[in-house]
Amino acid sequence: MFPYPSGNLHMGHVRNYVITDVIARSARMRGHRVLHPMGWDAFGLPAENAAIERGVEPGDWTDRNIAAMRLQLQQLGLSIDWDRELTTCHSDYYRWTQWLFLQFLEAGLAYRREATVNWDPVDQTVLANEQVDGEGRSWRSGALVEKRQLRQWFLKITAYADQLLDDLPKLAGWPERVRTMQANWIGRSSGTELDFELVDGQGQASGESITVFTTRADTVFGVSYVVLAPEHPLVKRLTTPDQATAVEAFCDLVSRQSEQERTAEDSPKRGVPIGAMVRNPATGALVPLWIADYVLAEYGTGAVMGVPAHDQRDFLFARRYELPVRQVIIPEGSDEHAYAGGAWTEAGILIHSGRFNGLSSAAAKKAITAAAEAEGWGRGKVQYRLRDWLISRQRYWGCPIPVIHCESCGVVPVPAEQLPVELPRQVAFSGKGASPLAQLEEWVNVACPCCGQPARRETDTMDTFMCSSWYYLRYSDPHNRSLPFERSQVDRWLPVDQYVGGIEHAILHLLYSRFFTKVLRDRGLLGFDEPFSRLLTQGMVQGITYKNPHSGKYIAPGDVTDATDPRDPKTAEVLEVFYEKMSKSKYNGVDPASVIDRYGADTARMFILFKAPPEKDLEWDDADVEGQFRFLQRLWRLVEAAANRDLRLEATAAAGPTPFSDLSPAERELRRAVHTAISAISDDLSGDYQFNTAVSELMKLSNAMGEHLEAASPAVANEALATLLTLLAPFAPHLAEEFWQKLGGSGSIHRQHWPVADPTALVRDTIPLVIQIKGKVRGNLEVPADADKATLEKLALESEVAARWLEGKAPSRVIVVPGKLVNLVP
Ligand SMILES: [Zn+2]
Repeated sequence: MFPYPSGNLHMGHVRNYVITDVIARSARMRGHRVLHPMGWDAFGLPAENAAIERGVEPGDWTDRNIAAMRLQLQQLGLSIDWDRELTTCHSDYYRWTQWLFLQFLEAGLAYRREATVNWDPVDQTVLANEQVDGEGRSWRSGALVEKRQLRQWFLKITAYADQLLDDLPKLAGWPERVRTMQANWIGRSSGTELDFELVDGQGQASGESITVFTTRADTVFGVSYVVLAPEHPLVKRLTTPDQATAVEAFCDLVSRQSEQERTAEDSPKRGVPIGAMVRNPATGALVPLWIADYVLAEYGTGAVMGVPAHDQRDFLFARRYELPVRQVIIPEGSDEHAYAGGAWTEAGILIHSGRFNGLSSAAAKKAITAAAEAEGWGRGKVQYRLRDWLISRQRYWGCPIPVIHCESCGVVPVPAEQLPVELPRQVAFSGKGASPLAQLEEWVNVACPCCGQPARRETDTMDTFMCSSWYYLRYSDPHNRSLPFERSQVDRWLPVDQYVGGIEHAILHLLYSRFFTKVLRDRGLLGFDEPFSRLLTQGMVQGITYKNPHSGKYIAPGDVTDATDPRDPKTAEVLEVFYEKMSKSKYNGVDPASVIDRYGADTARMFILFKAPPEKDLEWDDADVEGQFRFLQRLWRLVEAAANRDLRLEATAAAGPTPFSDLSPAERELRRAVHTAISAISDDLSGDYQFNTAVSELMKLSNAMGEHLEAASPAVANEALATLLTLLAPFAPHLAEEFWQKLGGSGSIHRQHWPVADPTALVRDTIPLVIQIKGKVRGNLEVPADADKATLEKLALESEVAARWLEGKAPSRVIVVPGKLVNLVP
């Protein structure tokens, strides 16, 4: 996943890109064609905020940050193909974001409508649902989000809800957790729409009805009220005069609550009756119409039925407002009709339900839905939690939406040959309110491409998640000037074999990218269903954190004088110590640049890979950084000693491996260590990427070399050295290259083939032989692995076991099973 160019590489970035680099380098050495690119997710609010606060131009600010971060990435030794670098805020990229938007528009998948939107009062902009956190706060500013009615652009992601859900099982290379999060976000449920007819004050049918969606049509006989969302368009008209004041006050109260506050399970549900009545289509009874905070206009039909006996939320609501509780389901095989303080929410058998009495819940759902369809008061319906994706932003630093508004023609797409619609530079920032674009009259006023009359450009820009929904496709053909990418190129490289990024993108970016891919497939622009075959969600990098439990203040580690007894430098109070995600506000960050300056990039890489498996959180630990630094120094001394012995790697390949029988015991040990490491590290780099155990294997190998290298012949020693360096290359690319050159290796180490384990070298010199006396196991004996039958018999007869059990007599029979056992029969 490409980074946002904030200007500073943090440890989370370092971890992400070191992981992808090891994967890329090792795959390349194993003979794969590897595309390992990098780009910049460069539109978004921080650049605009910097412009407002410091008067810098957002484009210049962004480009400077990119230059700084590119340098830092290069210092890490990442094997990136910089020829394919892309930047979403440069017009050679966003031209194609605009072109793709027009594809969506043409396909009927982009539209504009008035909507209740999340309004961030601090950043003065609209947010997508996904950008509002669990507490109803803006993901960026942290402000409590308000509701507003505005005309907005949407992408119709709901048209792909079924495919996005049904294709999740194809993503076997994704963490189960991410697939579950997407499935829950899409939230498909099968149920029934039921029409509750509105009646007037005299109980006369009005001809209008309120439609509710329910997954529990079997409980329709238990409905005791119907609830509308306070924002429902009918509320104003249906409210009776005597309820008008109460309803207005309630709507005002709810408008200041976030969606999350309204729907949180532990918050009390509140509501008021609006005075109107509706008729239960199943029973014919009249029930009151309410509005309540827990019903949202944007979900379902904006209306729900209240069944207190069989829904816990409705039960609490009915208790609070003294509404009737009517039981219509009983547990199967029970006569239990009474309630003990809560709703019976399980399936069961229907009672008090007229012609449906005695049916099971499952059968009743079908029968009631069928009856509703036959009699015209309802229908089967599949509903989704997923909403259409709101993509317009009232901000400057984003990709302009390429449409023109004409009084006669309506919304007119900017003709493809006029793209890009360039974002004007050097604009004035007020900081608040409407986008600076809306104030640029010379930019806004254009001739309608359709009729030529004066018209106005759209001044909203796109959600930055639009830019990041397709960037990985552009890497396949980054310099194309006539298309976003050539189909042959995109089909050649994509889907992404291995995607790596944080779990925080489980819903937003990863769902949008899947949606884009499916739409572009349907437009014939590419030939695959899913963008990312495998996904690794790397854990966080956590720093040691000191906090004063009384004041709640965080203390910088540098201000803690004694780490064994950490105290507040001002008050001397004892501090809490724990690990938490690195952040500026907690003073627990470690700057990658300082680590690289002090230890070099390879130490930083080795530490990050060694400290924890990639998907787990990693606790930054200076002692372990030192440990990796010392390990690399040991390797340095090992290579130095070999160079002093005049070992030359280029001699190895020509000589070929030494025959097993010609090897000394030390050489056999060394070869076994070398080929065990090849086998183990190759396994660690396949499938689950256990880089931490791979680094352990490198350490084991270096220990074995420290022990046996000196005694080994040049051929065996060279094989060991060449293998160690080749295995080290993806992890510590700088030192591996330097060592390789020092020992006379030919070409670059990064162009060497990945070594293949020699199975004969893995054979242990000795194996355990079982000694039996008359068929009973009496002992074990270490014997040469390649010993023949006669040797085994001889060794068995000479053994202590034989001496003890045969008491000096010769056995009557000897049975030898080579490689396994010798049975001596007295
Ligand atoms: Zn026109």
